[in-house]
Amino acid sequence: MILGLGMCGLVSMGSGCRGWRPDASVCLAGARLTASGTCRPQPSPPHALPFRPGYETEIMQGYHGYQTHKNELAYSLDFKCEPGTPIVASRDGVVWDVRDDSNRGCNDRSCIEDGNYVVLDHGDGSFTEYHHLQQFGALVEKDEQVCRGETIGLCGNTGYSSGPHLHFAITNAAHRTLPGRLPSESSRGFPVAIPDTRYTSHNELDVPCGRTEPSRLPRDAFAHYGVVLEATPLLSLEIGSSTRIRGRYHGDQAQVAIHRKPVEQGEWHDRCISVDDSGRFETTMRWPAETFEPGFYWFIITGADEECHAPGWSWSYKLQVRRETPPESGDANHSEASNADPRAEHPFFRPHSPFRTPLTQQTLRFRR
Ligand SMILES: [Zn+2]
Repeated sequence: MILGLGMCGLVSMGSGCRGWRPDASVCLAGARLTASGTCRPQPSPPHALPFRPGYETEIMQGYHGYQTHKNELAYSLDFKCEPGTPIVASRDGVVWDVRDDSNRGCNDRSCIEDGNYVVLDHGDGSFTEYHHLQQFGALVEKDEQVCRGETIGLCGNTGYSSGPHLHFAITNAAHRTLPGRLPSESSRGFPVAIPDTRYTSHNELDVPCGRTEPSRLPRDAFAHYGVVLEATPLLSLEIGSSTRIRGRYHGDQAQVAIHRKPVEQGEWHDRCISVDDSGRFETTMRWPAETFEPGFYWFIITGADEECHAPGWSWSYKLQVRRETPPESGDANHSEASNADPRAEHPFFRPHSPFRTPLTQQTLRFRR
C-alpha cells in the first residue's frame, strides 16, 4: 500500500495541493489538517504578556537562547520578575497540570526536576507553560477554567534557574514549543518578544470568559506510523468514559494497535484493531475504572503485527485521565468547607469571584 504523501505536503500551505485526497491527508509542520482534508497555515494564536497591567519586565532569554532555549525548548521566553510577583494567564484556558510543592532551585541540571509550574490547555491543541513558580505559588487547581489576565501563580526560582524569573512557552499537543505573537505589544510595531528588551504588560483582566473545551489529539498525530485519524480523542478524558476512534492505516502491518501506559509507572496496555482492505479501522476506546487509575498516560496508535507488537516508536502523546466529576448537589457543607480553605490567607485568592469554579469538596483537596 502506498502512503498518500507526496511533495504536496511540503507545499500544502500554498495553493499547489488541489489534488489532495482527504483520506490520505497529512500536514507538515506549521500547517493544520481541516475537516475537509486540506492543509492550512496555523497562525500562532495571540497571547498577552503573563503579568498584570502596568508591570514592567525584561526578556532575559528569548527564542533560541544560547543558554537553555534549544531543541524542544527553542521557542521559550524568560521574563525577569521579583519573587512573589503575580503571574497571569496569557489567554483563556483550562488548567492541564499544576505543581507547587518544591522549594528547591539551583543553577545547574541537578535541579531540573524540582521546578513548580502551571500548564494551561487553550482548547485548540495549544498550551501555555509557566515555570519556576514559588513553593505553594500555583493559585489554580487542575481542570479549573481561567480567563486571560487572571492570576494563576507567583514568580519564583524553583527548578533549574539562575534567579527569579518566569519561563514561559506556548506548546503544541506533543508539548513542543511554538513561536507566539504578543499583539498587545504592537505599540512597538513588532509583536515578537525581543531579548534584552523591556516590556510593560497591557494584559487587562478579561472576565467572564466561556468554558474552554479540552484540546483534541490532532488528526495527523500518528501519521509518521502511517495512521491518519478521522475521529480523535480529547486529550483530557474521564475515567469510565469511552471515545470513538476511526481512521485509516497506510502501512504494511496486519492491523493497528492502541498502546497506553501510565506516565509514572506501570505496564503498557496494548489493544489490537483489525483493518479492512482499504486500511480503514474503527473502535471504541474505553477507560474502565477497574483497569485505569486517574493520571497521565502515554498514548500511541501504530501499525502492529499478528501478536499486536508495534514496530517501535520514539515518542508519544500524553493523555490526561481525570476522576469522574461528582454529580452536582446542594452540598450542605459547602460554606463550612470554604471557610477551612488554607489559601484564603493569600492576598490573590478570591473564593467568591463569579468566574472561578465554585469550591467543592473535590477542589478542596490541597497540594501540600
Ligand atoms: Zn527559560
